[in-house]
This record gives sequence, C-alpha cells and structure tokens, in this order.
Amino acid sequence: MSVEESQEINLEADQELRIEVENKNETVTIELKTGMAEIFGTEIVKGRKYVFSTGAKIAVFTWQGCTIIYTGRKNSCYTAKETPMMFYLNCHACLEQLRQKAEQDNTRGPVTMIVGPVDVGKSTLCRILLNYAVRMGGQGRRPIFVDLDVGQGSISVPGTIGALMVERPASPTEGFSVQAPLVYQYGHVSMQKNPSLYNMLVSRLAEVVQDRMQANKKANVSGVIINTCGWTKDSGYKILTHIAQAFEVDVILVLDQERLFNELVRDMPSFVKVVLLPKSGGVVERPKSYRMEARDGRVRQYFYGTTSLPLHPHSFDVKFSELKIYKIGAPALPDSCMPVGVKAEDYLTKVVSVQPSPSLLNHLLAISFATSAEEDVIQTNVAGFVCITNVDMDRQTMTILSPQPKPLPDAVFLVSEVQFMDSH
Ligand code: ADP
Repeated sequence: MSVEESQEINLEADQELRIEVENKNETVTIELKTGMAEIFGTEIVKGRKYVFSTGAKIAVFTWQGCTIIYTGRKNSCYTAKETPMMFYLNCHACLEQLRQKAEQDNTRGPVTMIVGPVDVGKSTLCRILLNYAVRMGGQGRRPIFVDLDVGQGSISVPGTIGALMVERPASPTEGFSVQAPLVYQYGHVSMQKNPSLYNMLVSRLAEVVQDRMQANKKANVSGVIINTCGWTKDSGYKILTHIAQAFEVDVILVLDQERLFNELVRDMPSFVKVVLLPKSGGVVERPKSYRMEARDGRVRQYFYGTTSLPLHPHSFDVKFSELKIYKIGAPALPDSCMPVGVKAEDYLTKVVSVQPSPSLLNHLLAISFATSAEEDVIQTNVAGFVCITNVDMDRQTMTILSPQPKPLPDAVFLVSEVQFMDSH
C-alpha cells in the first residue's frame, strides 16, 4: 500500500498546513482548490501545482480559509491552528505606515533588523515582510533585502553577505529571484572566525545600500529588511549592535529571546523601536548535518540552477600563472613581533597572496571586481564564484568549474573556506 495519496484538506481562517519533506526522493505537491492561501507571504495561484522536494519545510497559511489538494506522504504534513501570523501582519502594517510617512516627508523608509537565536524563523519573517511590502498593489514598494547570515543566507553562496532589491514576491518553491545582487566575500560560514572582517564588510555594505537608496526613490521609501545570524551572545551581541549602528536601523524585531530583547532595549538609542515577537511553532530545528547539506545545496544551485531553471556551468583548465589568488586574513603574529603601530586585528583584514597547491581543491573562489591587490579588495564587491575541481602540480594547472565560459576575467580571486564536491 502506498502512503502517498491525494487528499483534500480544509483550512479555516488563520490556520496553516505545515509540510516537511524529509525522505530522500520524496515530493509533496500542493494545489489550491478554493479560497485563498499563501506560502510565507506569497499568494499561491488557484489550480497551479507547486512541487516541493526533499528538505522543504513550508507552511500554507490562509487568512480567509481554503481547500488544498495535498499529494504526498500523509505523515509529511499537519494542520496548525495557532500561528503568529497576526503579529507579523501587524508588524507589516506598522512598517507600511512608516513608508507612507517617508513618502510624504521625502525621507528614508524604515530600516528593520530581525534578530534572534538560530531556528526561530528569522529568514522566514524577512520573506513574509518583504512579500507583504511588494504585494502592496499600486504603492510600488521596492524594499531592499540585506542578508547578513553567512551560514544560511539566501542571496548568494555561503560565506558571503549581500543585498538585493525586491521587486516581486518570492516564488513559493524557489524564493526570491536573485538577479544582480550586491555581494561581499567573507569566506567563512561562521561570524566567530573573523569578526573584524565581518564588521568591516557590514559597514561597507551599509554604505553602498544607503547610496543605492538615495539613487532610487521607491527603494528609499520602502526601506530595508535585514536578516542576521543566530549568534546573539557575547561578541555575537556586539556584532548585532554594530549592524544596528552601521545600517542606522529604526526597528529591531526580536524573535523569541527575551534576554536579547531586554539587552537591546537597554542599549539602543530611544528612537530605535525594539519589538519582541513570538516564533512560530512550525519553525523546524535543523540539525548540523542539515545545515551542511543546505549549504552544499546552495552552492550546487549556484552552479547548476534548479529543476525548473537549470544552469549549465563550464569546466576548463587554467595555468597557475593565469590566476591571482588571495585570501583575507593573515595568521596574527605574537604581540612582541608586531611592528610598531600595527594591531592584531589589522592582520585579520590583510589581503595575502596564496600559492596554488592541492589544499585549494574543492574550494570556492570569489571573483572580485578588483583587478589587483593594490586596490581595496575587501571593500570591493564580488561578481561571482568559481570552484577548483582539480589541481595538477605537475602540469601547473587547475580545473575550474565556472558559470561563464573561458577565459576567466582578469580579476583578484579570493579563497573561501567553503568547499563544494562537484558530483555531476
Ligand atoms: P532562522 O532564519 O531563524 O534560522 P528559518 O526562517 O530559516 O529560521 O526557519 C527554519 C526552518 O523552518 C526553515 O526551513 C523554514 O522554511 C521552516 N519554517 C519556518 N516557519 C515555518 C512554518 N510555519 N511551518 C513550517 N516550516 C516553517
């Protein structure tokens, strides 16, 4: 007997159907039959089939009530009556008021930062708020989404931070369309690795986002939604306050952590509105192995696209001499060896040349817009990524997996800690 079957599920107003596709090669298909429903803020279209594959964790929520045709394993879904969606909608309404005010006064719209520990639904709340903003028919909202989560970010590959202007709701199955994002290379998947570099990049990104807002009235009025990492204690907290300062945030939404809420209320200037929000019972905790797989999946998606939008990367050899490879951060010297006037932190943000060797195998390289190490490499955004799939010391060549055909641009390449095993 197959456990997979089609069934009609009725949802009442304010309920959601939570779906978690766990098994290998499992899929779940959703179709809206009657009523209205949305997936993390994106309306779904009646009669269209949405297919979710292994790893998907989503909720189909309805404000009015609806009927859904669900095809998949029975155990992969359940109906939830309690959701925090009303709180999230209220947040959206407040942000929308601030946008209207900004429009009238010709000022900047709300800059909102979402904080909280891991797995409380920060990314999901970002998506909901961005979707609601662009769904405001006739208002022409163009909010900027800033993702500062270097581990599980959704703008580029892991190890980066970035920004994106959102013009239309996210696809329920594939998220926001990421054309021409602004991306900075950090090179690690945890903030602990190099907080000095992280803070520097955050400040730079904030500056550039501000410039872009000034150049685009719609974006300026719509404001910014910032997603952050789940490290909220000690130095992690300091980093959050740095982000708040750099982006001059107006609103901080704290998910599910009273301690963090109280600390921010205490430490933020009074014009910053700090709000504590409940997390959704639907947010799924993701074990370490899942996070690693998700990171791998993001890199694979970068090179190979998705089932509905496949990409065809190129693989070719380049001579060692054709590539200028660098990394950010030199090992710090003991204080006694430090030249006068140089601080240990300075080493963490130093650009150092890397000689090709087998240790680079499977590593991602970010392609900087900088063409030489004399330029300000750290403060320069990156155009894209390649992956080193083979290193041949005898022939002094490397095999490169690249979204673009040969030749590689004449650019500075920055080594990332992130590795990808190309199994295609
Ligand atoms: P965080 O950004 O705080 O780490 P996420 O927003 O990424 O958390 O959420 C963790 C996981 O839970 C994601 O896979 C997300 O799709 C899923 N999720 C969030 N809200 C719900 C919900 N209401 N029902 C089912 N899954 C959810």
